[in-house]
Amino acid sequence: MYWNKKIECADRSDMRRLQLTRLREEVAYEYDRVPVYRKKMDEAGVKPEDIQTLEDIQKLPFMTKEDFAENYPTGLFAADQKDIVRIHASSGTTGKPKVAGYTRRDLADWGEAVARGMTMAGQDENSVIHVSYGYGLFTGGLGAHIGGETIGATVIPMSSGNTKKQLTFLTDLKSTMLCCTPSYALTIAEAAQKAGLGPDDIALQAGLFGAEPWTQAMREDIESMLGIEAHDIYGLTEVTGPGVAISCGKGEGMHISEDLFYPEIIDPKTLEVLPDGERGELVLTTLHKQGMPVIRYRTRDICYLTHEKCACGRTTVRMSRIFGRTDDMLIIKGVNVFPSQIETVIGTIDELTLNYKILVGRVRDRDTFELQVELAEGLEIEDIAFVEALREKVSHALREMLGIGCKIRFLSAGTLPRNGGKAVRVEDTRNFND
Ligand code: AMP
Ligand code: ZN
Repeated sequence: MYWNKKIECADRSDMRRLQLTRLREEVAYEYDRVPVYRKKMDEAGVKPEDIQTLEDIQKLPFMTKEDFAENYPTGLFAADQKDIVRIHASSGTTGKPKVAGYTRRDLADWGEAVARGMTMAGQDENSVIHVSYGYGLFTGGLGAHIGGETIGATVIPMSSGNTKKQLTFLTDLKSTMLCCTPSYALTIAEAAQKAGLGPDDIALQAGLFGAEPWTQAMREDIESMLGIEAHDIYGLTEVTGPGVAISCGKGEGMHISEDLFYPEIIDPKTLEVLPDGERGELVLTTLHKQGMPVIRYRTRDICYLTHEKCACGRTTVRMSRIFGRTDDMLIIKGVNVFPSQIETVIGTIDELTLNYKILVGRVRDRDTFELQVELAEGLEIEDIAFVEALREKVSHALREMLGIGCKIRFLSAGTLPRNGGKAVRVEDTRNFND
């Protein structure tokens, strides 16, 4: 079953022709309407007319997360404000969010991209789609939502949290698809098991899980506990949101909606474009975006591409799972966390020093998150009342900044090792390679 067979199974030459037409239009539109990008192109000595072939994209300058920080909030918007019908945002390095704007056509394209994935996962207008991604500025909830509406399914906007209620709706409304982060899927699966609900008691057939890295082992756990087929969905706010690529379940990796998003893989050091099969940083160009097009956006996500025809019959290029990131952004329990945000919080609390360590790990497919921080000279960790009050204060401030909780361990001044060189602030023992 295909949602859009003409595009999903297009001949390579037809797809490339469409991509080139769209790329040229998009670059001209961006040059015309986004002064910061025009400046970048001028500095690189390239004009929209220089884009004659798809390979000419390599002449264009990259965009990075710094462009978002420098042009916060709407400096990268290309459409007039009257045509922007939606805003989303994702956290950025300095605590300044990366803001995205969408026109009506952008929302329709987003719905189309997610609809293709839901169809790959066997869903149609008879389906009941239970969306447990968070609703709000995060693109997860409304991204899955618009896909479900596009295929004409019944969409349940659960949002995340209150796992007991999730289970009640999941069973009572006979949901056929679950959309959430893989870690939350596992929480739901475990709660189902605890409640004595097996795959036969649940109507679920498939899940669309993404927004954070996950492993094959985790996929197998979720599939067997809920008796479903788990599909991987990739995307990011800067480019649109979830739905840039979705796995079909027949072949490796995720099919990219390449009529909408043009992928390249680069070596993050030399910035050279790498061939199929080689791991590097994914760079994405939107081909049909109006609100906030991005050209050669460096996603920081590490993966590889393949153009081999897939067993499902689709001809679209596939990207592998995400193996990690080239920057310091951590995704913990589905939430983006930058070490700099934690440092900012620590810096505002007099009782703490800036000697700290962030420990991220995984216990039974669940992320663990701990901050170890040294107290200021002269403060005693034995003073229980003092330590508990401080813990409360730090905990609250971190939750305010990050949106998630964190285990806090106070250390006496001078306990953390000093290596004399760059401080190693983060110890992430999770492994997303298999
Ligand atoms: P956000 O824009 O806040 O939703 O975050 C986007 C980031 O989430 C991406 O750049 C990836 O690092 C990560 N991400 C999204 N989907 C996936 C996925 N399916 N697998 C691994 N990482 C993902
Ligand atoms: Zn396929």
